Amino acid sequence: MSKFVFVTGGVVSSLGKGITAGSIGTLLKKRGLKVSILKIDPYLNVDAGTMNPFQHGEVFVTDDGAETDLDLGHYERFIDVSLSEKNSITTGKIYSSVIKKERRGDYLGGTVQVIPHITNDIQDRIIRAGEGLDVLIVEIGGTVGDIEGQPFLEAIRQMAVRVGRENVVYCHVTLIPYLEAAKELKTKPTQHSVQELRRIGILPNILVCRTSRAMDQGMKNKIALFCDVPPEAVIEVRDEPTIYNVPVALHKQGLDDLILKNLGIKPENEPDLSDWLRVVDRYMNSPEEVKIALVGKYVQHKDAYLSVVEALHHGGISQGVRVNIISVEAEDLENGKADEILKFADGVLIPGGFGVRGVEGMIEAAKFARENNVPLFGICLGMQMMVVEFARNVCKLHDAHSKEMNPATIHPVIHLMEEQENLHDLGGTMRLGAYPCDLAEGTKSAKVYGELKISERHRHRYEFNNAYRERLENCGLKIAGICTERDLVEIVELPEHIWYIGGQFHGEYKSRPTKPHPLFDGFINAAMTYMRNRAKEA
Ligand code: GLN
Repeated sequence: MSKFVFVTGGVVSSLGKGITAGSIGTLLKKRGLKVSILKIDPYLNVDAGTMNPFQHGEVFVTDDGAETDLDLGHYERFIDVSLSEKNSITTGKIYSSVIKKERRGDYLGGTVQVIPHITNDIQDRIIRAGEGLDVLIVEIGGTVGDIEGQPFLEAIRQMAVRVGRENVVYCHVTLIPYLEAAKELKTKPTQHSVQELRRIGILPNILVCRTSRAMDQGMKNKIALFCDVPPEAVIEVRDEPTIYNVPVALHKQGLDDLILKNLGIKPENEPDLSDWLRVVDRYMNSPEEVKIALVGKYVQHKDAYLSVVEALHHGGISQGVRVNIISVEAEDLENGKADEILKFADGVLIPGGFGVRGVEGMIEAAKFARENNVPLFGICLGMQMMVVEFARNVCKLHDAHSKEMNPATIHPVIHLMEEQENLHDLGGTMRLGAYPCDLAEGTKSAKVYGELKISERHRHRYEFNNAYRERLENCGLKIAGICTERDLVEIVELPEHIWYIGGQFHGEYKSRPTKPHPLFDGFINAAMTYMRNRAKEA
């Protein structure tokens, strides 16, 4: 049976609980353990699929097509695992399933209650997610004291009874604020949030303290005394120049040893963190810099393109170059402004998105990059707009008012397929999760992937319209990747261009700091070539 690490958060949100949980995963995996991770989101949404990126940031998609919280992206990047639907639970999911069982009569007429029915369902899911593992890390979203979080905290309290206290460890991530006026770090908010946890019966074993200044031993002793943990279990996490240094910083303070000791696991080896040290070194110290324009429609939210941003950095780490990502609001490029606004860019990336707002600006960005031989990478909506731009401006296909047109696309080269139209009212029309893709030999894509059979994750409704395939190919667009089982176009390229690749899928979800996604790696490489050529000419 698996053992469990429960990660809770106190005082305020946005403390980097997800990064802490992911980093614990990195370290335990490096100790030779089979680990995975589960995110609990106390909100009522059944999943993150319907959530607005302006409010919640990116929706992360797993291989099996679950639309999840962006923390699952951190976990995949930190632990290098492929997660699934069972790694993400929400209040909405739990209540739907309990109410369904109640309607079916499964509770035999009993009164259905939060305790035990909801809390049991939560525990059953935690146990299931831990099957076949040495350790399952469970992160509880939100902050201790939130009303929505209570059934989850009660459930993880009961877990200690259910699986044995020696098989669980509670790790509480908290804030030690610095008060400018007093010139002091303050421990009281942490004391209160630990009190809140103890009130519901959870005694944290480890406190991970976020702080902007170094904590001295006296302060750690004080926290240890008031919060009832050993002093070595008070771990300090300062703001790191890159999140990829967090596992290294936590290991230096012995967090992995502490967790193993609490769980009664004998550590077999010292973890080899050399690949992470290399990631940090190259992220920080690469001498050159490329400037990438990220032309999106949710650019005001810092996390709306989280995986894309990370994947770009992974490309930079692999190529030994710093990546300076400059967000450009797609709408600002409308009416011929792209040339002026984008002239700084060594590469243009157009990411995914939903709805028509901003698409004309994306089309202008694609035109600018195509005409000026600037590296261009389109993802999902970005790829679709590259195809529209090409159809309009190169093939002169101006039949935008054909009957195939639908409200969310602006040109019939991208369309809703007939069988999808029938499903439209049911809402079941998205292509979600991993699909196999065959690459055409001799293409740039085939070269950077180094293989011809790939699998990538999708999240979209519209598709490249096969009725236009031949016409677009005749104008020079290369179809470089096809989902053969469904005969759908997945990748387009322009062979003569420095780097013009659009993919219908989201490669960013599969990129890792230590293993960059091939298309992001290749794109940054092309941007570097472009930057160097430009410097030579100047
Ligand atoms: N809105 C487009 C579609 O549904 C693109 C989706 C996306 O970029 N993820 O096909």
